[in-house]
Amino acid sequence: MADKRELSVAIIGAGAGGIMSAIKLRDSGIKKVVLFEKAADLGGTWRDNTYPGLVCDVPSHLYRFSFAPNPDWSQTFSPGSEIYAYVRKVAEDNNAEEMIRYNSEVTKLEYNNKRWRVTTTQGDQGEFDVVVSAVGILHHPVYPDIPGLDSFKGDCFHSARWNHDVSLKGKRVGIIGTGSTAVQIVGAIVDDVAHLSMFQRTPQWVMNAPNLPVAEEDKAHYRAHPEEMSAMYDQLAATMNHGFAAAIVGDNAMALEKIQEGCQQSLDQGVQDPELRAKLQPDYSAGCKRLIMSDRFYPAIQKPNAELVTDAIESIEPEGVRTRDGRLHALDVLVLCTGFDPHRFLADAEVVGRNGQTLNEAWSQGNYAYKTICVPNFPNLFFLGGPNSPIGNFSYLMTAERQFGYIEKLIGLLREGKLEEVTPKADVTAAFNQSIKDAMPQTVWASGGCQSWYYDRFGNVASWPWTFAKFEEDLSAPALQDFEAA
Ligand code: NAP
Repeated sequence: MADKRELSVAIIGAGAGGIMSAIKLRDSGIKKVVLFEKAADLGGTWRDNTYPGLVCDVPSHLYRFSFAPNPDWSQTFSPGSEIYAYVRKVAEDNNAEEMIRYNSEVTKLEYNNKRWRVTTTQGDQGEFDVVVSAVGILHHPVYPDIPGLDSFKGDCFHSARWNHDVSLKGKRVGIIGTGSTAVQIVGAIVDDVAHLSMFQRTPQWVMNAPNLPVAEEDKAHYRAHPEEMSAMYDQLAATMNHGFAAAIVGDNAMALEKIQEGCQQSLDQGVQDPELRAKLQPDYSAGCKRLIMSDRFYPAIQKPNAELVTDAIESIEPEGVRTRDGRLHALDVLVLCTGFDPHRFLADAEVVGRNGQTLNEAWSQGNYAYKTICVPNFPNLFFLGGPNSPIGNFSYLMTAERQFGYIEKLIGLLREGKLEEVTPKADVTAAFNQSIKDAMPQTVWASGGCQSWYYDRFGNVASWPWTFAKFEEDLSAPALQDFEAA
């Protein structure tokens, strides 16, 4: 059936999610699809993160779009550069680049007469019927608030802004943080540097996950038998969703116990020195912070040139890091592996919805959305990876594709002329968010006794508190009664 209404769509962000959305919208027959990207290149997190040792902790064969299977992944957990190349290839194979406007950070979205006026750093971009935000989650680096940070006279950079002009060979290198990023970097650089100091505020649970190469004959086999690769995807997805992802939301206590036992075993067996082992022992439940997958970290931190510093950092001085015991850890290079603010979404843009209300005002007491996708009073604005998305539970590409499928159905209501504006009802959205709050205490993020980036600034855990099966079911088709009638 021909569209009753011809739509134009603006997408914000040319990371994996934005590119997937642009390709699918254009292929569905929408003629005007424009992807605004603030940087000079596509790829999102895989463009920004280039640190040594970067691999994705989601098994590679689970990290792909359904329309772009990849038989060529080189390892169980493939390197970031390979994932960047995959995203680029998806864009190239599908002529997505012609839809991208680079160096165009969206600074303002304003809703008027049922259309969004889009302004970027390049000026007014005109009006669009629909806006899809695909700005990513682990995207805004957090710099630690440590006195004297600016006084350090060596090289200092955040892990997501790696300075490749700085050689680490033979240097004294400090790593602040013990998250997935820090652990991967330590494993990758320890043999190159003269001395490595890892500054730990909180120990982490580490799952021993060997990262094996994929044999050439296996790749050839996947190429010849895509149906087997697809079956493997289904099997991996089921294992992840019924095991780990169910465990962390309180739906599989036995799996959570097994995860913790496995991590404890690798700590007990993998670290010889009882003093170091005690320092690395977490006192909260596994999965409470994002679980770390690595078979390189424990061997690396036990090398003679590596040191785990557990005294709190007092200040940073020109020569290095001063800890509370008075010791100066002299350094040439300091790497801040201090994570990201995953709760910013479109906070840097002025988003003006109906009645002049801004998104920052609407979210002043915490971010919320209807089923992670849309917000009352901001019609025809849809989020990939929006508030309470299941980040950290599943493969993000899988999550984003499910969310896009739902958004596409909402856009379909506009195309078919069934609705002029898609806006979730305020009371239904409030009830949905109350159900999130009610379910959260059973998750390990809330009950596990730790602090993590899952918490927003109001002390609420901002993730999906249910299983992936519920996520799929909730996003299978829009319940029309939950939306305002046109
Ligand atoms: P993170 O998990 O948020 O870790 C930040 C680290 O910095 C923590 O150890 C934190 O200590 C420490 N820290 C922060 N401020 C500090 C301060 N002022 N003084 C001392 N220590 C401080 O960040 P991340 O390692 O970059 O990882 C973020 C997320 O990105 C991961 O959880 C994961 O989802 C994703 N990631 C994924 C991969 C992958 O393989 N797919 C790789 C890297 C990252 P506390 O624990 O005490 O707060």
